[in-house]
Amino acid sequence: MLEQQADRIMQLSEWEERWQENKIGFHQPEIHRMLQINYNAVVNRRSSVRFFFPLCGKAVDMKWLADLGHSVVGVEISEMAIRQFFQENNMTYSEESLPSLPGATLFQNSEKNISLYQCDLFSFSSSVAGQFGAIWDRGSLVAINPKDRERYAALILSLMGGDCRYLLDTLLYNPDLYKGSSCNVELLQSVDALTDRQRAWGLDSLTENVHLITPKATN
Ligand code: SAH
Repeated sequence: MLEQQADRIMQLSEWEERWQENKIGFHQPEIHRMLQINYNAVVNRRSSVRFFFPLCGKAVDMKWLADLGHSVVGVEISEMAIRQFFQENNMTYSEESLPSLPGATLFQNSEKNISLYQCDLFSFSSSVAGQFGAIWDRGSLVAINPKDRERYAALILSLMGGDCRYLLDTLLYNPDLYKGSSCNVELLQSVDALTDRQRAWGLDSLTENVHLITPKATN
């Protein structure tokens, strides 16, 4: 089951369809609470910080940070998301294609403190827009296909300047309660399996679980 979830792949075209069909339950109309609460930790008394927003969608956090004097670079595959961002925040914007990044379009507001690149994140690199002083990652690492996580980590690391502070928001849940679409999963047994052997490795807990997995009825 976990295997199946880990293998689930969202194609770029599926993301674009979601935007077309307005199935964007991830979008939040308010400034993200965790960014507000942890603003000082990520900004760390600096002014005019260059923020990077991987998989930015139309997050209103970008406008909030720009209004506080920072600059924002975002990457998003959906052109519709980017246009909606500027329209909904009453900003005029320019658009240009980039010879260095074939197929990509750069959208910028007139003050040029918000630059959104419409392209696949994995075609973006520090040669496009340099390195960053801060990263706000909400709905990005968690949305990346699990098979791409190592590639993602390497890319993010390459975008981090020496003084970069990366604020990462993730979600932790009990996978037994999210059963996926193909099978029913039932936890039959959960026992303490800690022995001196594992204590010697430095572990302080080890749980052995047994699941029963059965196909879901197909009709
Ligand atoms: N961070 C935003 C959006 C999260 S949803 C927020 O908090 O609201 C993930 C977004 O990433 C979607 O808008 C989707 O269109 C975009 N996306 C997914 N994979 C991408 C990729 N490989 N490159 C660029 N954008 C991608």
